Amino acid sequence: MKNSNKCPKCGSTEIYTDEGLTKSGSRAGIGISNWTRLIIDIYLCSNCGFMEEYIEKEDLQDSKKMEKLKENWKKKNSGL
Ligand SMILES: [Zn+2]
Repeated sequence: MKNSNKCPKCGSTEIYTDEGLTKSGSRAGIGISNWTRLIIDIYLCSNCGFMEEYIEKEDLQDSKKMEKLKENWKKKNSGL
């Protein structure tokens, strides 16, 4: 939905997002360490309720935050 502007479940184009808006409340972030938090952008279909979540672009391009993520989380298919 982030890229297509269309719901993959029901085909509706009634997609709403909080991308770029000031986030309030705890739902909008995810902790990856004691001090590091990633901000989440939500894309929601108002027709069927399907929801997608993405880490906001600023955090994705923040190499310090991404280092923390790699330190604290495990990589899928890493053979472990
Ligand atoms: Zn939908």
